[in-house]
This record gives sequence, C-alpha cells and structure tokens, in this order.
Amino acid sequence: MPTSVVTGGAGFLGSHLADALLANGHRVICVDNLETGSLANIEHMRADEFVFVPHDLIQAIRIDEPVDFVYHLASPASPIDYLRLPLQTLKVGSYGTHNALGLAKFKRARFLLASTSEVYGDPEVHPQPETYWGHVNPIGPRGVYDEAKRYAEALTMAYHRQQGVDTCIVRIFNTFGPRMRPYDGRAIPNFVRQAVEQKPITVYGDGSQTRSFCYVDDLVRGLILLQESGEHLPVNIGNPNEFTLLELAEKVIEVFEATSEIVFEALPVDDPKVRQPDITRARQVLGWEPRIELDEGLRKLRASLPREAPVA
Ligand code: NAD
Ligand code: UDP
Repeated sequence: MPTSVVTGGAGFLGSHLADALLANGHRVICVDNLETGSLANIEHMRADEFVFVPHDLIQAIRIDEPVDFVYHLASPASPIDYLRLPLQTLKVGSYGTHNALGLAKFKRARFLLASTSEVYGDPEVHPQPETYWGHVNPIGPRGVYDEAKRYAEALTMAYHRQQGVDTCIVRIFNTFGPRMRPYDGRAIPNFVRQAVEQKPITVYGDGSQTRSFCYVDDLVRGLILLQESGEHLPVNIGNPNEFTLLELAEKVIEVFEATSEIVFEALPVDDPKVRQPDITRARQVLGWEPRIELDEGLRKLRASLPREAPVA
C-alpha cells in the first residue's frame, strides 16, 4: 500500500485529496497545524489507513515510516487569511516548503507543490500559459502570498535540479466545493452564504473582473494524475471557462433560488482583473480536463449543504 503525506490535509483541498487517496488504496498521513483548516474536515476519516499529525510545518518534520508521495498544500490560501497572517504565509512558503522537500528527499518520495495562479499576478497575457512569468507586485498586500509561492517554485526546482528530488508543481486556479468555510472570504463561499441567508451579494468593484472556477473533484483528479506522472515543470490545473464576478453573483442567485440583491463594494488592492488558465499542457501531459462546469458545481455545492430550516 503506497503512503502519501498531505500537508494542509485538514484544509479544503487537502481533505478532499485525502479522501480520494484513501479511496485509491493509499495510507494517508495528514500534517496540519489547523491554522485555517479544521478537524471537522477530517473527522469522518476513521480508517486505520489515515493518521493525523498536528504539526506546524515551519518546524522540521520527522515521520518514522516509509513515504512514497508528499503533497505539499499547507499554506493560508484565502486573501483574508494571508492578509491576516502575512509572516506565517511567507514562513510556510519558505521554511515550510524546505521542510516538506527535505522530507521528500530523505524518504526518496515524489513531491508535489501546490502553487497557484497568483504567481502570474495581474496578468498581461490572457489566458495564462505556464511559459508566462507573471506580473506580480512584490510590495503590495498580496505580495506575501504571491512571492511565497514563487519562492516555493524556485526552491522546488532547486531541490529537483541540484538534490535530485523527484518533484512536480501544480498551479491551481480558483477552486470551489463543499468544506469551504462560510466566512473564508473568497467569492463563492461569500456569495453562497449570502444567498442562503437571503442577504445582499457583495460584488467588489464593478464586477467586471474575471475568474475561472474549477470544481474540487476535477482539481483533485488533476493533482493525483500529475503526482503519478513523470512531469517536473509547472502544470496549470483549472477550469478555462471564464466568468465576470457579476455573472457569478447572478448564477449563485439563480442556482440557490435566492431573492438577494447585488450590492457593490470597494475593490481590494491589487485584485487581478482577469484570470483564465491555458490548460493545453494539462491536456497534453496528463490527458486532464475538467468535467464539471460552474452550474453543475454550484448545484452539487447546494446539495451538500445542511437543509435550510423551514421558515415557521
Ligand atoms: P485551506 O486554508 O483550506 O487549507 C490550507 C491548510 O494548510 C489548512 O488546513 C491549514 O491549517 C494548513 N496550514 C497552514 N499553515 C500551516 C503550517 N505552517 N503548518 C501546517 N499546516 C498549515 O486552503 P485551500 O484552499 O485548501 O488551499 C490548499 C493549497 O492550495 C494552498 O497551498 C493554496 O495556496 C493552494 N491553492 C488553493 C486554491 C483554491 O482555489 N482553493 C487556489 C490556488 C492555490
Ligand atoms: N470578490 C467579490 N465579492 C466577495 C469576495 C470576492 O466580488 O464577497 C471578488 C474579488 O475581489 C476577486 C474575485 O471575487 O475579484 C475572486 O476573489 P477570491 O477571494 O475568491 O479569490 P482570488 O482570485 O482573489 O484569490
């Protein structure tokens, strides 16, 4: 039975990845300090094949059993989290990635870095292929996340080229699904919470900025395919169907049958104006493409929520 370490395994993506790996017959060791994750995301994983190790990745990690794969996902990911935790974000991207790569080197395990579309910043090339090097503001508030991930990519390639570690890098584009925290601040959990509570939907700016939303099951399938491939260079994983934020708000209202109005609030500093993955490499290298479009993903998300209490 192969053993996979998932750092950040109690978070949104990490817990879905752990579920998929367990279903594929892996033993899973989840390493997490619960900074933005939660035990509620993993409490259903009671199998003997699942182990939770509470640990801050900023400190070196020791695991006393063979490891075949390291999936390194630990990092704050939502803008409200990394703006609240700027130093921890830089430290987990740097020391944390060193420690996870060191573990992979020691165990001779294959290593996957969860990088991000944020390495492209507010892009001048659209859609973004992996060959585009980005347009990031290093000193703006989002710089702590974007530069931590860019450093982590450089570090991963150095461990690969100089230390011979078998590595890969996935650049994840906006992903959504069950287990996102209602108050994690990202667009879909905000809009969904607001729609369920029949409150106004808060669109930042004029809503003309775009994002491309991938359902979590598609994303996890891509992570596992990449980890099990022989690829070393970055691969974009995301859904190339692009929507304005205003279109997203309207879709959420429709799918959740909400009566909410749309209100406009200030656009955050350095908020990227467009984002759309070019997934040519994912198609060629992994034979991967998304199967679940935004409408269907939103319907699945609605079905996963606890039933709304009947109005008395
Ligand atoms: P999340 O906040 O739900 O999960 C991150 C997990 O990492 C949490 O469980 C948190 O407790 C843990 N963590 C943070 N710092 C840690 C530390 N120092 N030591 C140990 N554990 C630590 O976020 P997510 O959306 O699941 O994102 C997971 C990964 O995917 C992140 O690396 C993120 O940058 C990347 N990513 C996510 C998206 C997305 O749309 N969700 C997009 C791009 C990249
Ligand atoms: N956004 C919004 N209303 C919200 C939350 C986010 O309009 O309540 C916008 C945000 O300004 C950005 C987009 O939605 O343009 C995606 O934001 P998110 O935080 O989900 O992810 P990002 O792509 O910025 O990392």
